[in-house]
Amino acid sequence: MKKEDLLKFIRKLNMRIFSIIIGLSITGMTLIGQTSEKKSKGFIMDKVVKSDKEWQTCLTPEEYQILREQGTESAFTGEYYNHKEEGTYTCAGCDNKLFSSDTKYDSGSGWPAFFDSLDETKVNIKRDLSYGMIRTEITCAKCDSHLGHVFEDGPKPTGLRYCVNSVSLNFTPKKTD
Ligand code: FE
Repeated sequence: MKKEDLLKFIRKLNMRIFSIIIGLSITGMTLIGQTSEKKSKGFIMDKVVKSDKEWQTCLTPEEYQILREQGTESAFTGEYYNHKEEGTYTCAGCDNKLFSSDTKYDSGSGWPAFFDSLDETKVNIKRDLSYGMIRTEITCAKCDSHLGHVFEDGPKPTGLRYCVNSVSLNFTPKKTD
């Protein structure tokens, strides 16, 4: 092979390697982009967003006051504080599965209590400084409805007490068949 031909060949080879590297980089970046897009899309699609007016039409006045205005039902009055059936507790605002009867216990407080949520992604926590107290509010991660508060005086293994309004919950019994 002549020297010129050899140089041409090397140049061509270099160009080819260069395009392969560029191609791989673009593919890599696209894949990374798709993965994060999928994640964020899933999160956004999962969210239930309604205006105050819409919430007012789909909730009872009591539900609206507790779920959307951080209200609290009176102790020992709710439907579920003494409820012992096996099943799943869902959000009264959006049906998001929040708590299992497996983690429910009698805290003696007059509100339903759980030592864990069904999944840490289901419940959001937020510092609540209302009424001169330092508390941690819990909200539904899907629709942002107020659920109650979480305290660090629960039983093992978590040591947590998710203290939830019955009004914020619906209950689906476990299927026995
Ligand atoms: Fe919800």
